[in-house]
Amino acid sequence: MPTPAPGRYFLQVPGPTIIPDRVAQAMAMPALDHRGPQFAALAAGISRDLKQIFKTIHPVMTFPASGTGAWQAALVNTLSPGDGVLVPETGHFSHLWKTIAADLGLNVVEIPGDWRSGIDPAAVATVLASDTAHNIRAVLAVHNETATGVTSDIPALRAAMDEAGHPALLMVDTISSLCATDYRHDDWGVDVTISGSQKGLMLPPGLSFNVASEKALEASASARLPRGYFKWEPMLAAAGNGLYPYTPPVTLFYGMREAVDLLLNEGLDNVFARHAKLAAATRAAVIGWDLEIQCADPARYSNAVTAIRLPEGHDADAFRALVLDKFDMSLAAGLGKVAGTVFRVGHLGYMNSLTLAGALAGVEMGLESAGIPHRKGGLLAALDILNA
Ligand code: PLP
Repeated sequence: MPTPAPGRYFLQVPGPTIIPDRVAQAMAMPALDHRGPQFAALAAGISRDLKQIFKTIHPVMTFPASGTGAWQAALVNTLSPGDGVLVPETGHFSHLWKTIAADLGLNVVEIPGDWRSGIDPAAVATVLASDTAHNIRAVLAVHNETATGVTSDIPALRAAMDEAGHPALLMVDTISSLCATDYRHDDWGVDVTISGSQKGLMLPPGLSFNVASEKALEASASARLPRGYFKWEPMLAAAGNGLYPYTPPVTLFYGMREAVDLLLNEGLDNVFARHAKLAAATRAAVIGWDLEIQCADPARYSNAVTAIRLPEGHDADAFRALVLDKFDMSLAAGLGKVAGTVFRVGHLGYMNSLTLAGALAGVEMGLESAGIPHRKGGLLAALDILNA
């Protein structure tokens, strides 16, 4: 390992996010028998409390897998080979989920998007209304598209699906929205919620989640895709009794206990308000710099991440490399279609005003050093919001 630079490294990507000291310390505890009563009590207690975070009365299933595993789990437990899935394109992550679905032998219908706006509920309703044979069995929606910083309106999507009178399941990826913005599995009528540990939950990567509605469980009874590692039944049992069908990452569970406590003690509404303020300050900086926000619809701005477009002829990856080299700060790359044209500032997880102010100072100094045309003073505009 190279010697780290002195001072605090700035991890300003939208996951993995900063690990609170309390969480890191908990993860240094000695290992525990994962089939013993202490682990069972720890895991069952966490599953119970996670319900508050997902706003559900249903069991929260925890898989030792990255978020991609939870995407796959949602699909293989509810669908059969050749079933149709409708994917509104929001950006790189809707694209990756679509690719997994196609790989599993599902029949993907995509609604093209411009990577600058959220899911269009009317477009979803139109496609569903024309699917009179009900070949489409699920709509796959990314709540917060991490690649573009656009948060879609899930209740509006649910309402459009109901209006179309179509029975497709609604699956929602909350991997970068959970604990950054309000999310309600039960009230919003979501059938399968998908999430991950390494973002708003302030944990390392390695855990991911599914929550299923009654309707999704019914679909599961007759679904025929092979489930393998991702079978729901033992995970539903584990959510109740804390006994996992394979070795769970015990240390991550220690960390999760602390992280869930931190979030619930802060209060979820306060957590969302903190994120909203950090996001607003970031956007004020971008507007102050006279740069462009990738999300073209202010109603859909993300609480978790802001993607920023650089003027033509300027390479966002070279800019990020300069900022890392000069200030020891990681900004997130543009992904897929927007690679090299945008960079992203993550502002979710264990983040406060001064951390963000430092990060935005690094961006402003980086813009200057890289010779990227911009107006000075974005940071000052952000400070006004952070200080309000
Ligand atoms: N969905 C969203 C919205 C994401 O942001 C990510 C990762 O950043 C994923 C899915 C994939 O999760 P993972 O990389 O943990 O497999």
